[in-house]
Amino acid sequence: MKIICVGRNYEAHAKELNNAVEESPVIFLKPETALIPNKQPFFYPSFSNDVHYETELVVKICKLGKHIDEKFAHRYYKEITLGIDFTARDLQSQLKTKGLPWELAKGFDGSAPLGKFIVLESMQKSIQDLHFQMKLNGEIKQDGHSANMIFSVDKIIAFVSSYFTLKIGDLIYTGTPAGVGPVKKGDHLEAWLEEEKVLSVKVK
Ligand code: MG
Repeated sequence: MKIICVGRNYEAHAKELNNAVEESPVIFLKPETALIPNKQPFFYPSFSNDVHYETELVVKICKLGKHIDEKFAHRYYKEITLGIDFTARDLQSQLKTKGLPWELAKGFDGSAPLGKFIVLESMQKSIQDLHFQMKLNGEIKQDGHSANMIFSVDKIIAFVSSYFTLKIGDLIYTGTPAGVGPVKKGDHLEAWLEEEKVLSVKVK
């Protein structure tokens, strides 16, 4: 399986990092070894002093497809959750300055904690009408709403599937709202999708 991530998908977040809002989605991949199951710890990597959380809506692909039309994209997912796109911001800034790829800063071991999946149909809401929050040590740090995505989930699926065949079990991290910030050892991140707590990860 592969983990497809979208960068700069919320205008307020693009602005907080002084990035332009792009005309097509910014896409990068993380390897499978980046995943951390819910409630497992994240071990702070030795190569960074500035790891940031990014809380993101995550979509699980349930059907093989390529060149998927946007109007049929909803048939390719049934379950959603929240995940963290941990980012070594110091390393990413160095790579961006040099015009180099981001993989080392974004795809390292443990950089993709993944929450408990919820069946979208059971929520009786559109995937573009979901509220989510992340608390760091009990304090709300990110408060997002999928209505504010620049590229909707269906648009992302249409775009990405014209380059990569989507396979069952592939994950799409759909980008972070504003409010990103650093973590340190001892921190506890918890995230809620609507009313349901779906993610808990401790930094060690
Ligand atoms: Mg992200």
